[in-house]
Amino acid sequence: MDGASHPSVRSTCPYCGVGCGVKLRADGAGGLSVKGDPDHPANRGRLCSKGHALGQTVGLEDRLLTPHVHGTKASWDEALTLVAQRFSDTIAKHGPDSVAFYVSGQLLTEDYYVANKLMKGFIGSANIDTNSRLCMASTVAGHKRAFGTDTVPGTYEDLEQADLVVLTGSNLAWCHPVLYQRLAAARKERGTKIVVIDPRRTATCDIADLHLKLKLGTDVALFNGLLAHLGKTGALDAQFLKTHTSGIDEAITAASADDPATTGLDPADIARFYAMFAATERTVTVFSQGVNQSTSGTDKVNAILNCHLATGRIGKPGMGPFSVTGQPNAMGGRETGGLSNMLAVHLDLETAEHRTAVQTFWSAPRIAKRPGLKAVDMFQAVAEGRIKALWIACTNPAVSMPDADAVRAAIKGCDFTVVSDITGQTDTARLAHVLLPATGWGEKDGTVTNSDRTISRQRAALPAPGLARPDWAIFTEVGRRMGWQDAFDYAAPSEIFREHAALSGIAARLGRDFDISGLADLTDADYDALAPTRWPVTAARAGGRFFGDGRFFTPDGRARILPVRQRAPAAKRTARYPFRLNTGRTRDQWHTMTRTGLASRLARHLAEPFLQLHPQDATALNLHPADIAQVQSPHGTALLRVLISDDATLGAPFAPIHWTGETAPAARIDTLIAPACDPISGQPESKASVIAIERF
Ligand code: SF4
Repeated sequence: MDGASHPSVRSTCPYCGVGCGVKLRADGAGGLSVKGDPDHPANRGRLCSKGHALGQTVGLEDRLLTPHVHGTKASWDEALTLVAQRFSDTIAKHGPDSVAFYVSGQLLTEDYYVANKLMKGFIGSANIDTNSRLCMASTVAGHKRAFGTDTVPGTYEDLEQADLVVLTGSNLAWCHPVLYQRLAAARKERGTKIVVIDPRRTATCDIADLHLKLKLGTDVALFNGLLAHLGKTGALDAQFLKTHTSGIDEAITAASADDPATTGLDPADIARFYAMFAATERTVTVFSQGVNQSTSGTDKVNAILNCHLATGRIGKPGMGPFSVTGQPNAMGGRETGGLSNMLAVHLDLETAEHRTAVQTFWSAPRIAKRPGLKAVDMFQAVAEGRIKALWIACTNPAVSMPDADAVRAAIKGCDFTVVSDITGQTDTARLAHVLLPATGWGEKDGTVTNSDRTISRQRAALPAPGLARPDWAIFTEVGRRMGWQDAFDYAAPSEIFREHAALSGIAARLGRDFDISGLADLTDADYDALAPTRWPVTAARAGGRFFGDGRFFTPDGRARILPVRQRAPAAKRTARYPFRLNTGRTRDQWHTMTRTGLASRLARHLAEPFLQLHPQDATALNLHPADIAQVQSPHGTALLRVLISDDATLGAPFAPIHWTGETAPAARIDTLIAPACDPISGQPESKASVIAIERF
């Protein structure tokens, strides 16, 4: 069959949380043509540079095509039997908490569901965590504290219907480009005012009416100042506060104790921002990793939510706090309970009634009774020998975890490590005792959920190469071989999805927000044809916003407005380490470049790892453009090309996260990052480690 005669397949981009729809057509020679899907509500045909280059990333270079055991090719039967045996033996000898899964926001919902079920319901531990811990765990914790559930109240359309959009800790232009395009188009059409809050000037500032270049880590002081201002100027919604919330007085008292001058901003700019917010009913505040990746990330989230709750600006057209997720299926992971402190379908591990409901539904022999290890603690437990069997799926923690050299050493020293991935060439895969070949994007079938709760199908347009299998099938096979044949008797992702949807109906009856029970009876054909669908999906309701009726998921139905205070980042600057390191993504690369590194056109944007330095810092360090800087932290060293720019923050240079041991051995940024975490969310502070810089 030639390329033209291959059918067009509708699927979803595997990169950021915008979740753009794509139309794929196989060319008959292993390649794919990729176009934006004009019918997908997230992108309406648009794609960014990464989405356009997807076709260049599906070749079989470096693909893992067969299982390996101790570096030697093996059959699936040999590899799976060994994995099941080693996990069973370890559990029998050392208990269920001696094993762990570390998974990924790039797994599909069906993969996540099976892995979580195996760990929490059958192994009986909650030691399953995900790289989404590094991405949006603080948002989950902040949502749960305020709303009682991890609920994203609004939709993408709200950004287009708002009169003011505040972007904080979000370089939307590079990290969520299609949502940025939608916002820019709305601004052109209706004159939306845009405020960007970011310690450095980013591409997103191109459409900003006001850029607040605040001191790194001072977001709580800024939003606390806003809450106090709203209180002083009569901009609160007294009726909404009285009927639908609790805690406003304590929150305003705490907020008033912080000084917005801590931000280092011009008081006139602060006043302008506060006046814009106070005067604009239709306001959306978008927040992302600049808020989440902090030792006070959860408090930052609640400081933002407080301002929306205090003004009643939530759950209505064009208004609300809006978290944008970094990964394509971070939301699906949250829905299936892929974080170690969640159960499944937004139920709580700590609530006995919830545990019983899930255990009964799964007919599980046991159920985890307490939260498991969060990512940083999990690898610490590996290093200390408390985790003796580890399965890493679809992610590369030897590069992407904070204190990455220590994490690499921990994985290397683990008694038994399994890696399932599309390639055996990552820094992590090289350390595995057993390598299991997984199917990749373009070959996988299942669903993902984007940042505005829209569930989309990923559909296979290419055959599985070699012996590669879908992740859900690999977890299923291990579950069966560990003795739970009936519970893991899935033949297709549609069966898993129906079970997940049915379980969500039970969660809804227990007062949870996540309810897709209206999809529990999909036939295989319905599942295959499923159009993008925003949850909740019940017999009575489809999509829409949450909280428009003022009812929240707390025991008393009221949203909690929380007293929070500004705190400095955990690491202290010293004479030895006088700078802070800000980190993040670039426009055209993705995570550790496992896929985007294959597309030559994407390397044209920024071809090598760099350190973006403020001119005054460069002068003080006697560094010049294109010099090589040696960057040292208490945890590691990296060599980076010097870029000098006014966009950078004085005293807090920026470096991208993407380059790995393969592509640039000396530029693994996460070797520099301290493993300090938010005490509530467990999310690491990836943007404020202390460093020293000198010419190499
Ligand atoms: Fe993919 Fe995100 Fe770009 Fe859309 S905006 S094409 S989801 S990377």
